[in-house]
Amino acid sequence: MLARSLSRRLLWPIQQSARAFTALPAEDHSGVSSSVQQEYIEKEDRYGAHNYAPVPVVLTRGEGVFVWDVEGKQYYDFLAAYSAVNQGHCHPKIVKALIDQVPHLSLTSRAFYNDVLGEYEEYITKLFGYDKVLPMNTGVEGGETAVKLARRWGYDVKGVPKNQAKVLFAENNFWGRTLAAISSSTDPESFGGFGPFMPGFDVIPYNDLKALEAKLDDDPNIVAMMVEPIQGEAGIVIPDPGYLSGAHALLKKHNALLICDEVQTGLARTGRMLASEYEGVRPDILVLGKALSGGVYPVSAVLADDEIMLTIGRGQHGSTYGGNPVAARVALAALQVIVDENLTENSYRLGQLLRHELQTIPSRIVTEVRGKGLFNAIVVREDQAPSAWDICMRLRENGLLAKPTHGNIIRLAPPLTLTEEQVLECADIIKKTIMSFPE
Ligand code: PLP
Repeated sequence: MLARSLSRRLLWPIQQSARAFTALPAEDHSGVSSSVQQEYIEKEDRYGAHNYAPVPVVLTRGEGVFVWDVEGKQYYDFLAAYSAVNQGHCHPKIVKALIDQVPHLSLTSRAFYNDVLGEYEEYITKLFGYDKVLPMNTGVEGGETAVKLARRWGYDVKGVPKNQAKVLFAENNFWGRTLAAISSSTDPESFGGFGPFMPGFDVIPYNDLKALEAKLDDDPNIVAMMVEPIQGEAGIVIPDPGYLSGAHALLKKHNALLICDEVQTGLARTGRMLASEYEGVRPDILVLGKALSGGVYPVSAVLADDEIMLTIGRGQHGSTYGGNPVAARVALAALQVIVDENLTENSYRLGQLLRHELQTIPSRIVTEVRGKGLFNAIVVREDQAPSAWDICMRLRENGLLAKPTHGNIIRLAPPLTLTEEQVLECADIIKKTIMSFPE
């Protein structure tokens, strides 16, 4: 598998000349309900870069599990901004935290102290049981920070020779779009045409402890592996039981760190506060983002104990916006909502119900339904109509928004505030939509 991913990367210049960057149906605006929506779409297409391929629907309002388009049509949101809106759209407590803080003090930069950051830092470190937190903004900055920390720890604590540190990643990982993130990517859509890439990264197959062990035996300069406990963008790929705990044990044995990228799986999404809890694993470095703000502000965080965190000294890493008072207030509120509203338990229970309902769809179009908590995927038959995109277009018509990931997989990740009644209604919409296609 590794050989395949590497050869895919080596073949990139040849593939590039053979095809354009059109793996997603970027120009497919079919079925937009009116010229009103078409106008918004055309404006974005005319003046905005074409780096996304949105589902053709123009949204103007969100509340809880629902969003509305500019013509007033209501939809269940089954993407929840890629799990950033776990607490539901525009959660009143999170919005209030933002609104109360903005006119008071919004940004000081970390050149000065502010009177909110410490309170947030105390709350989040106690909640997750780490000595310290390093606040950033986007998920990918969290990943970058984690990799920098691991390298620094490798030099200062493990004693790796200067500039020799290696970090491992799993095949089909996704942790964002910066040059470092795409340097570890095995998806040509992500890395193709953007080289040269970051040195000191190595990719091994996901869910393969033997491959990890062989790498660790082979290279004493490995300082860490960064991994998603369940791969999100790859299509809700759940590794075998024992994978994460086994990986952690192997890394420990070789004096290397486990970095869990819980940007998408964390914060109750999978039916646990952290997906790594399913394996009883406490990562050495934990990366959070997305729902850390409930979707109202970019907030990410890296958590670790002092032995790791304090290897980065004052003035050696940062971000103008990271840890600003608005971000701190919003993150405090977003975390408290997850705890106070028992979203972890709701996600676990309703995830089971949703899978139970979807697994009984009597159609050969669906080949698998899988997931944990409210982090689920429907896998549809490949190379045969309807495609996952076709199904998503019809779901949209039927009042439910979802988007394919990796061709034939439809990710189902609604806000975690969904009720049992709503789960049953949504399962019914999904069932009827799929069964409306001839097999
Ligand atoms: N890590 C994971 C697992 C993700 O799924 C994503 C985004 O989808 C990121 C990191 C990057 O987060 P952001 O888009 O906020 O940079």
